[in-house]
Amino acid sequence: MKIAVVGTGYVGLVTGTCFAETGNQVICVDIDQNKVARLQKGEIPIYEPGLDVLFDRNIEEGRLKFTTDLAEGVKDAEVIFLALPTPPGEDGSADLKYILGVANDLGTLLDHYVVIIDKSTVPVGTAEKVRAAIAKNAIVEFDVVSNPEFLREGVAVEDFMKPDRVVVGTTSELAKKVMESLYAPLVRQGNPVIFMDERSAEMTKYAANSFLALKITFMNEIANLCEKVGANVDDIRRGIGTDSRIGKRFLFAGIGYGGSCFPKDVQALAKTSSDYGYDFRTLKSVMAVNDDQKKKLLPIVSEYFEGDLAGKTIAVWGLAFKPYTDDIREAPALENIKALLAAGAKVTAYDPEAMDNVKKILPEVAFCHTAYAALDDADALMIFTEWPQFRTPDFEKMGNLLKEKVIFDGRNLYELSQMADLGFTYYSVGREPQN
Ligand code: NAD
Repeated sequence: MKIAVVGTGYVGLVTGTCFAETGNQVICVDIDQNKVARLQKGEIPIYEPGLDVLFDRNIEEGRLKFTTDLAEGVKDAEVIFLALPTPPGEDGSADLKYILGVANDLGTLLDHYVVIIDKSTVPVGTAEKVRAAIAKNAIVEFDVVSNPEFLREGVAVEDFMKPDRVVVGTTSELAKKVMESLYAPLVRQGNPVIFMDERSAEMTKYAANSFLALKITFMNEIANLCEKVGANVDDIRRGIGTDSRIGKRFLFAGIGYGGSCFPKDVQALAKTSSDYGYDFRTLKSVMAVNDDQKKKLLPIVSEYFEGDLAGKTIAVWGLAFKPYTDDIREAPALENIKALLAAGAKVTAYDPEAMDNVKKILPEVAFCHTAYAALDDADALMIFTEWPQFRTPDFEKMGNLLKEKVIFDGRNLYELSQMADLGFTYYSVGREPQN
């Protein structure tokens, strides 16, 4: 099949590369000239494990191309994916200007039947808006399908190539056949392609992300209560996660969720609810609790230093919103670092992949080449991302480098007994402080 992917970010590049891998002819379109120039040179502008092998192979074999020209991209396309940003607008709703802008342009460009597939996360009713925007100028038949994406950054290629399920919103029989044949190679093990109407497909994506955000947030509140009652949230996690109705995943307590999806999608669903006159109370709580949770360690750090962080050096391990990505959108580390700097502290930081992105917005941070270099002469360590390399560090070396053996761990990486044995002062989330 000939496929155009409009928007070549985390979702678009993975979508384009993976569909090239299943034998399709793919052209990815992006307005960012610098990004397209890098892609055309064979450089991947994001960090996504495993993407490079597929990317190189499909460029080499001529199935994956890049352009800034939308007209060139859609000229022969049988399907056009929209993988464009939907950032939060001022009122919390998803901003559709990128999607509708491209839809307007498509209307004037289409000269044959094509299936336009919305892969971006968009509020209920967007497929109808996209259809109307294209129809204003279109002289040919076309279908608009809602096909939300469920990939996770960090394991995006695996998620895309072997999805748990594919959700497709369409009432067109023709579009349904196109979608079935497009996804057939990815669901050979029998995972379902679930067809529904467009509005339900749009809601499915928000329901999934909001439910996951709710699960994390619920566990974070259990952790907060554990601290008060003297219980250990790790034990609670093991105790409830083994119940198959609850499941083991998304139960790790910490300093809140971030990323480019959960915060904006929860906010957008709350906005949709209020637009339709429904008071979605659990969503409101999720947002409020998560905002507080992200800042949870700051008062503890401040109290430890008797309210005076001026002149202190705080080492930070982990900047990305989660491991295996360079994505720092809404990462809890950022808000914490800004607060530390505002309180007069110096921040030294290390992240295996995300430092270049943070440098652009927080140049005053001292970025280090290794995790240990960040500790050199620092007064304390704060941990914000659970990169595996932070899990079993050389504690003796850490103790020697740090001025004080104190760790504020937002991701519960270490065993309490181990920290006590090693003589660290150790604060984590939902567990008794060791000091
Ligand atoms: P992104 O910001 O990484 O990529 C978007 C790309 O679109 C950018 O490269 C940008 O330059 C390009 N773009 C903007 N306007 C354009 C235009 N007019 N023409 C061509 N290109 C244009 O975003 P992303 O993380 O890939 O997310 C895209 C959508 O997918 C969002 O709606 C997001 O909510 C959803 N989503 C994201 C993830 C994720 O993990 N990142 C997962 C599932 C769904």
